Amino acid sequence: MANGAKPIVLNEFDIIQRYFAPPQKIRPEVNLSIGDDCAIVSIPTHHQLVITTDTLVSGVHFPNDATAYSIGYRALAVNISDIAAMGATPAWATLALTLPQADEIWLQEFAHGFFDLANQFNIQLIGGDTTHGSLTITVQMHGLVPTGKALLRSGAKVGDLIYVTNSLGDSGLALAFLQKQLMLTNQDQECALKRFYQPEPRVIIGEHLRDIATAAIDVSDGLAADLKHILKASNVGATVYIDQLPISNLVRQHVSPEKALNLALTAGEDFELCFTAPRDAIEKLKHIANITHCAITPIGEIQKGNELQLLYQDGKTYHGSTQGYRHF
Ligand code: ADP
Ligand code: MG
Repeated sequence: MANGAKPIVLNEFDIIQRYFAPPQKIRPEVNLSIGDDCAIVSIPTHHQLVITTDTLVSGVHFPNDATAYSIGYRALAVNISDIAAMGATPAWATLALTLPQADEIWLQEFAHGFFDLANQFNIQLIGGDTTHGSLTITVQMHGLVPTGKALLRSGAKVGDLIYVTNSLGDSGLALAFLQKQLMLTNQDQECALKRFYQPEPRVIIGEHLRDIATAAIDVSDGLAADLKHILKASNVGATVYIDQLPISNLVRQHVSPEKALNLALTAGEDFELCFTAPRDAIEKLKHIANITHCAITPIGEIQKGNELQLLYQDGKTYHGSTQGYRHF
């Protein structure tokens, strides 16, 4: 370098040691963590292991200029959300990191985002892989659930009500903003981008739903597309009353009513839970909403057949698109 200072060159072992090895939350079930060829864990008796993987690719799942903190946070959040949708409790994770360069500030911020969320849910990072290439982050997340209690997509029954947590559309609004399709004030930008980059996985609600819900999924591809997964797996149909959809206030303020509906139904990545439960569960669900400070809204019902009907209050059918995000 011109000033004589040596460039800092980190090898993969330095990176692991500096940014991803402890200190962090330590779980009692983890017998061997980062540092050997494999990690070793013990599964508590009467529990099953619930496993998921999600990859984030720069430019596909987040813009190329996203902050390292938010990438670290989001990479873990999307995986925790899948665990929550099974009614399981997140426990430990592995992290496969492909980096274009070993940038210390970037790594520090990435690890900060990752561990802020990991620590919040008592998740231990127990291993991974570090390679050179285009920025890609793969997390494998393991969760624990009492044997036989996991929430599947296949359990919805005719007569069940369909529910969704919190509100829909903010993440889609953020994406429209990032794609320069609309303007937002600084304050509204902050709210929308926070929901896009730092979704709140509904772990506690998922745990409470174990004994209540008949089927569940997290909204990652768009509510309509994800609900259709439940319908197909459960071999049932449904009616959703679109006036009842909990469209976020921010979305209502910034786009036309038609666009707001479109975002709520088709924009993915809200990472809320959509689930079905028998009608008599309503009081228990109100209680869960109260203790978690998160709205749980009934939006429709499970019926015979295999169609998803979208109806307005006056009985008219909604004919807009229900196609969610697809990679291919
Ligand atoms: P091996 O060559 O035997 O696969 P590595 O040299 O890739 O092992 O990794 C050494 C140790 O560091 C392993 O325990 C591995 O799980 C862990 N590790 C590697 N990369 C990461 C990472 N990005 N985050 C957490 N742990 C990692
Ligand atoms: Mg090895």
